[in-house]
Amino acid sequence: MFKIMDPAPTGPVAEHVYAVKDGMVSMFILTNGESVIAIDAGNGEASVRAELQKLPISPESVTHLFLTHSDGDHVGGLACFPNAHVYLSRDEEQMIDGTTARFFGRRRNRSIDRPYTLLDDGEVVTVGHIAVRAIATPGHTPGAMSYLVDGHVLFTGDTLRLRDGRAQTFIRWINMDTAAQKASIHKLARLQGVTLLCTAHTGCTANWDHALERWRVGPA
Ligand SMILES: [Zn+2]
Repeated sequence: MFKIMDPAPTGPVAEHVYAVKDGMVSMFILTNGESVIAIDAGNGEASVRAELQKLPISPESVTHLFLTHSDGDHVGGLACFPNAHVYLSRDEEQMIDGTTARFFGRRRNRSIDRPYTLLDDGEVVTVGHIAVRAIATPGHTPGAMSYLVDGHVLFTGDTLRLRDGRAQTFIRWINMDTAAQKASIHKLARLQGVTLLCTAHTGCTANWDHALERWRVGPA
């Protein structure tokens, strides 16, 4: 049966890529044996720390941490990565500096208590021999960002969810703008050569063509 939330369990997802499952969400660590980066930081410090012990990678070795957005279940375990510089979308800063409220104005996302670097659409961050391309995919939040690593491993955060291996929009009432998110998924669908797609709440797939097939037609 389809579960609304079905995150990737802690452990290897593919060669060089590891999931860290923290309750309803997964964050990811990618290494080429030389450099170590992370995508998101999980929900809670204690739970992420416990899960990290199952991996053959020290959290201290993570030097760059890329946030797909600023919701608490993607940022909460940041303290587990003391040596990581944080990157997020320039369009997401409004969510953590008090400008824009979340969830119908009822609350705001927390600020990030360390220096961070803001990224624009298409910007590439090079970490040793790892290249991380930021792809703006607004919708879930205004600054939702996907990251394409080395041209073929794609992390989408909450920009899409997988159901039976196919991409669909994320849960509407948690999205700030589902119409914008649809346009973002169409934008991602134009990528070619993706060998692994990792979502934050619905696991990963190696079958990119199948996952995005229905999104290759329609608005660009
Ligand atoms: Zn989330």
